[in-house]
Amino acid sequence: MSKLNIVLFGPPGAGKGTQSEFLIKQYDLVHLSTGDLLRAEIKAETELGLAARELMDQGELVADHIVIGMIRNKMEAFNDAAGFIFDGFPRTEAQAKALDAMLNAKSEPIVAMLSLEVPDEELVKRLLERGKSSGRVDDQDEVTARKRISVYAKETAPLKEYYKAQGKYKAIDGVGSIADITGRLTKALG
Ligand code: AMP
Repeated sequence: MSKLNIVLFGPPGAGKGTQSEFLIKQYDLVHLSTGDLLRAEIKAETELGLAARELMDQGELVADHIVIGMIRNKMEAFNDAAGFIFDGFPRTEAQAKALDAMLNAKSEPIVAMLSLEVPDEELVKRLLERGKSSGRVDDQDEVTARKRISVYAKETAPLKEYYKAQGKYKAIDGVGSIADITGRLTKALG
């Protein structure tokens, strides 16, 4: 059976992590979040974690080769998965191309790029709210929240065109109850 490889796309605070939790259960997928993987490296105080920390705290992107390498390792470790849900990756065109190359080599391409669409002011509100409980440095203040949203707009949002050109881009309204949004994602996956 062909694999259900999905890119769950959207700005910081769009609900990618929350919705991934549902999708992995529903479709038996493996969740690959580069943000989670990087935070685990920081917690374990690895060299990679130390190198990434400052950039993450400031809302800047970590170097492409670092996140591509992490994704490659995880995909190899979960070779038998029914599919992957990529969350927070790819964030640049170089990452999208590297992901396509890895998946196409196995004839297991991305089947859909689901893009959660949420207005900027709602994102800022959600990020600051999350910051109260998550302990994430990058969610603590409005300046960093806005910085991450602007990095997304500049570096990452153009990937919509990349996936549109492949006929895989699907915009999903990311405002509403968690259950409503889950319903929209499920419907988009057919
Ligand atoms: P996230 O949890 O997806 O919001 O990611 C938190 C931070 O980790 C981002 O602001 C970046 O600094 C870094 N990061 C996560 N994923 C990537 C990626 N694919 N490319 C570059 N940096 C990333």
